[in-house]
Amino acid sequence: MNADLKAPAKCRTMIDPDEALRLVLQSAVCAAPRKVPLAEACGLQLAEPIPADGDYPPFPRAMMDGYAVRTADAGQTVEVIGEVAAGNPADVAVSPGYCLEIMTGAPCPSGTEAVVQKEQTTRQGNRVTLPGKIAEGGHIARRGSECLAGRLVLQPGQTITPLAVAVAASFGVERIRITPRPSLAVITTGGELVPAGQRPGPGQIRDSNGPMLVAMACDMGIQRPVHLHAEDRLDEILHALGQVADKDIILLTGGVSVGNYDLVPEALQRFGAEGVFHKVTQKPGKPLLMAIKGRQLLFGLPGNPLASHFCFQRYVAAAIRKTEGKLPVPDPMRAQLAVPLPPKRGRTHFVTARAEPDDSSPTGWRIHPLPGASSADVFAPCQASCYVEVPPGKAEIPAGEILSFAWIGGAPWTN
Ligand code: AMP
Ligand code: MG
Repeated sequence: MNADLKAPAKCRTMIDPDEALRLVLQSAVCAAPRKVPLAEACGLQLAEPIPADGDYPPFPRAMMDGYAVRTADAGQTVEVIGEVAAGNPADVAVSPGYCLEIMTGAPCPSGTEAVVQKEQTTRQGNRVTLPGKIAEGGHIARRGSECLAGRLVLQPGQTITPLAVAVAASFGVERIRITPRPSLAVITTGGELVPAGQRPGPGQIRDSNGPMLVAMACDMGIQRPVHLHAEDRLDEILHALGQVADKDIILLTGGVSVGNYDLVPEALQRFGAEGVFHKVTQKPGKPLLMAIKGRQLLFGLPGNPLASHFCFQRYVAAAIRKTEGKLPVPDPMRAQLAVPLPPKRGRTHFVTARAEPDDSSPTGWRIHPLPGASSADVFAPCQASCYVEVPPGKAEIPAGEILSFAWIGGAPWTN
């Protein structure tokens, strides 16, 4: 029953990790932009220019609670002839010997030359004594002083942040054109798996890849990733694929290796997907498979949890960022190895480690590899902040060697 992905001859096998990443990025295409409500746009790339639709502020605005005055009245006691609240323009002007009480955010009445802070005045009835020095324009934001009409305030390609949302909202934008996030489904496979809420029976274990991959997708901002489970039967895997056929990215876990029940390659082929590559010279994650169906990306991730985690982290995350129009692969970090590492023969190893800032390291970072875990073991690696790339070789890698590393998820964190 063992089936390699019978895809067109172009399905590559036993390629190195950089070539695999290149093929992933070649297969992933930037999604078509669409408009979404402003509040949903955070973290996404803007796909249109946003100009200022007017001057900002749109009127001379008081920046303090106090009095709208004439500068020549400095040191004088003047009459308070009214009050201006935010949103409520006054219908009287400020003239010599007269002032209006004014609140922060209110439009300055005509004739205002400065706003003096309430704390710098003494009020008695409807008269107020002003400070001895009043600077022209003090505590007034002139019309257009922050932004003039027509200025391009947000540029296509920039990431929408909460401050960018504030800018867009200030200029009347309710829906904004962005490059959307992909939709994503996870299909776990395996007859031995039970959900986390269930006590495993003989020979069973709890499904950890499903919750982990859903968490990784959510961590990247993907909305409501779907999780389905299929037993190791072709019809079940195909049924699950059919149920999530509309998703941009489908991740399957388990069943991609050479066991008798490793049916994912054949299921993908029957589903109509074309293999891009199967098997990468890396540890963890050698069985990784990638296929495409039109613009849809399908990944067969290894069942071993650490391998599955690593393959999402290095390949799936890059594909997601590419479809979102972002820089797909952040520049690698470099760090000095804290302890010697035994030789890693044959394949590139990606070793879980903690990276600590260290002034005595030429790169500013020192890496402490975590105890050698198998591709199945996530219990020591769950303390990791990064994966260190260790090239294959026959000799021990000495302490002090500089290696590349990539942060895991939201790292670096501080604890
Ligand atoms: P497979 O790739 O299906 O041969 O699985 C390799 C190993 O990973 C086996 O020990 C499986 O029991 C384990 N495994 C597969 N899927 C999961 C999962 N969703 N959660 C935890 N372990 C899994
Ligand atoms: Mg399996």
